[in-house]
Amino acid sequence: MKKIYRKIAQAASACLLCAGIAVSGQPPMQPVHTYADTVADYEQKIKDLDNRINEIDQQIATAGQDIEASKSQQDNYWNLLVATQEKIDTVNLSVAAKEEEIKSKQAEIDNKQLEIDNKALEITETERKIADTEAQIEMLEKQNEENLHRFAQIVRANYINDSGDYLSVISGATDFYDIFVRSKLMDSVTRQNEEFMKQLQSDIHRLEDKKVQLGDDIKALEDQKEGLNYDKMTLQMQKEDLEDEKIDLDERVKYFNDLNSSYWGEYNTYASQIQDLETRQANLQYEKKVTQADREKAQAAMDEEIRRAQERAKNNTVYDTGEWAWPLDRSYHLITTTFGWDAWRNGNHGGIDIGNSGLMGANIYASKGGEVIVAKTTYIPGYDYGMYVVIDHGSGYQTLYAHCSAIYVSVGQTVNKGDCIAAVGATGWATGPHLHFEVRKDSVRIDPLGVVALPQ
Ligand SMILES: [Zn+2]
Repeated sequence: MKKIYRKIAQAASACLLCAGIAVSGQPPMQPVHTYADTVADYEQKIKDLDNRINEIDQQIATAGQDIEASKSQQDNYWNLLVATQEKIDTVNLSVAAKEEEIKSKQAEIDNKQLEIDNKALEITETERKIADTEAQIEMLEKQNEENLHRFAQIVRANYINDSGDYLSVISGATDFYDIFVRSKLMDSVTRQNEEFMKQLQSDIHRLEDKKVQLGDDIKALEDQKEGLNYDKMTLQMQKEDLEDEKIDLDERVKYFNDLNSSYWGEYNTYASQIQDLETRQANLQYEKKVTQADREKAQAAMDEEIRRAQERAKNNTVYDTGEWAWPLDRSYHLITTTFGWDAWRNGNHGGIDIGNSGLMGANIYASKGGEVIVAKTTYIPGYDYGMYVVIDHGSGYQTLYAHCSAIYVSVGQTVNKGDCIAAVGATGWATGPHLHFEVRKDSVRIDPLGVVALPQ
């Protein structure tokens, strides 16, 4: 297939295009398209599509690399997250342990407070006992005093008549009891009275001893209470230390949690990047599929084009053995550029230009019967043949009609000599309406006037 195309392209490559009658300062043109341009078009299109497929492959590969890079970053952040989470777990354990310590410290403090309260109760109880004892002492002393008075009255009654001296001694004394116990009057007092007095004195002494003992107890209790208060204060200080330590731990937890959040942010950013890239890759894969389908279509069309060219070459169909017809109405026969070397273009002119005035829109006729193999209606203004038709006549002959303003036939269509196939125009590289007419024999341009008679 390549061979055939090359053969056709080679034959056409020497072609320079006509510029009509007037020259309008256009740059010398490269021969871009020949009449085999359908195959060339397909080849170019396939080449473009291949380039695009390569581009897409590269973009897919780049996206793949970006995905790998993002995944690697994501993995880094995942590892950081795992490490941070481990730290958080550890610190949380420390926090829990610290909370336990604080709780048990508080329990110790509460116990200590209970002891202090009990101690205070004991003190209150002891103070109450002291007050009781004092009350008892007071009561006994009162009894004693009363007893003494009563006794003194007895003594006075006994001795009032014997001696006035004794009376004066007794009445002037401050402590009746002392006088009484030391006096000789003791013998005269009843045994019962003496026992009673002694018992009272003993009770008073015992109570006073007890009061002293209770006072000592209070002092001891106060000391103990003070000790307990000190212990409690120590415990409270320890608890405050623990609470400070817990605050530090809480701050560490917060720090690691913040770190974790920022790592999560990064992780998620990469996750969405990966998602975007994967979407992009999928889109590219789809575009590649579509482009490959386009390429297959172009390839199939080109193969078909080549097959048909081969068919024509093989069959060597002769469509028309008669005379060649002039491609325009016979009154239009002003040759503005002849076939062959053209000094103005500094190149070969591949056909003849027919350029009478008033030619615009005039009918163009098939010079001989044959099959339309090119009917090109798209073109770039200012370049090449513009709109043109190529007819294959068999026996290796083909004719070309360029710069048309309209085309009335399509590829594959069979035409008869003299059929109107197009209208004269100035499309492509033409500065005015004219017909560029070529005749080819076995893919080589020959002078059209060698086969078509110029009307007289
Ligand atoms: Zn020309």
